[in-house]
Amino acid sequence: MTVEIICVGTEILLGNIVNTNAAYLAEKCAGLGLSCYFQSVVGDNEERLTQVLTCAVERSDIVILSGGLGPTEDDLTKEVAAKVCGRKLAVDERSMERIAEYFAARDIKPTENNWKQAMMPEGAIILDNNNGTAPGVIIETEGAKVILLPGPPNELLPMFEESVAPYLDKLTPGIISSQTVKICGVSESQVETTVKDMIDQQTNPTIATYAKTGEVHIRVTAAADNEKQANKLIKPVVKELKARFGEDVYTTDVDVTLEKAVADLLVANKLSVTCAESCTGGMLSARLINVPGVSDVYKAGFVTYSNKSKKKLLGVKKATLDKHGAVSAHTAEEMAKGAALAVKADVAVAITGIAGPDGGSKEKPVGLVYIACAVKGKVTVKKYHFKGNRNKIREGATSAALILMRKCMLEYFSKVTFGKK
Ligand code: ATP
Ligand code: MG
Repeated sequence: MTVEIICVGTEILLGNIVNTNAAYLAEKCAGLGLSCYFQSVVGDNEERLTQVLTCAVERSDIVILSGGLGPTEDDLTKEVAAKVCGRKLAVDERSMERIAEYFAARDIKPTENNWKQAMMPEGAIILDNNNGTAPGVIIETEGAKVILLPGPPNELLPMFEESVAPYLDKLTPGIISSQTVKICGVSESQVETTVKDMIDQQTNPTIATYAKTGEVHIRVTAAADNEKQANKLIKPVVKELKARFGEDVYTTDVDVTLEKAVADLLVANKLSVTCAESCTGGMLSARLINVPGVSDVYKAGFVTYSNKSKKKLLGVKKATLDKHGAVSAHTAEEMAKGAALAVKADVAVAITGIAGPDGGSKEKPVGLVYIACAVKGKVTVKKYHFKGNRNKIREGATSAALILMRKCMLEYFSKVTFGKK
């Protein structure tokens, strides 16, 4: 079954607002097993909207429109949709009541044009708007089903979840289920090369890769009659992916983030942790502290931006800074060791680098970052070159630090276990 998305609004055409509704709707529809072949944006213009919608109802099974359901003159989606579907607009009593209730609850007097929102295409299904005044509308024609949703995301999202998703679910036979395999520390091209044969042969389940900062997610999606059957299709593929990527798979749970995986490792093994950050300015600590439960292991963090603070708080030697500079493997190592010592932490991570846009040189260009990780006294230092603007470099360094922490901890555990044998 095909779906088409039309977002209405001159503001979107002009680039004044980002079309997040389209991204949201497309992702949700894909999750429901609908194929989306067309998306368009059209301004608040009757003639052009008529043109786009007429074309959409002919070529797609479901057409979802967002925006232009409001009370003002430029809101004309409902009028155009009614016309294209050959329906008249009539007063909908229930919508009248709900609009009256909405204003009464807020002690505001509705204006004349608010009642325009109670005019509905005859025979349409009306969707309650629990977060605003414009109800949603479903017009079922012989060809397509046309679904009108309000533009504001805080109204569109809950309406989709509450009313549209269950409606669409009933239209589509079977279910779509997916599992995500999250891989860290492997580049997207490397991941794609490793799974190329699987992607080439895929039918059901399908395999899709998504690149994130420092990570690649592989989504395995199956269409089946029920959840059990879908799982049966997905399981062997996930198993194969785990076999191919080994330890680089940090989770197969879509809700587990990289920082959660790292925090879980720390907590499960009762390893206390500290972070000493220069160019990332606390981003690593912030990501770790985002994880509930990390308080069991997170001791303290240092944002040591200046050389003076690196010396004073972390005990980095003056000679090291003079000889190798603040952005160097030596400094990163001393930062990690110093932080571990200062707060008596089992694991210490240090980041020092050049985030730009200034401060780079031929020997030490913008994007050069050193990350050190100490686990129970054993320090590993790695050199990185990140591309992009200041923020990209800082985000890249933060993710790389989490990946290095995970790697160093896994190495430590394998040695400890090995030692015990
Ligand atoms: P209202 O009753 O607020 O007028 P509406 O259904 O008429 O709602 P629009 O007037 O088209 O919707 O848009 C209202 C606001 O919703 C926009 O100013 C914008 O902030 C947000 N919005 C609209 N369309 C989108 C979109 N496609 N993506 C993200 N936000 C959107
Ligand atoms: Mg509007």
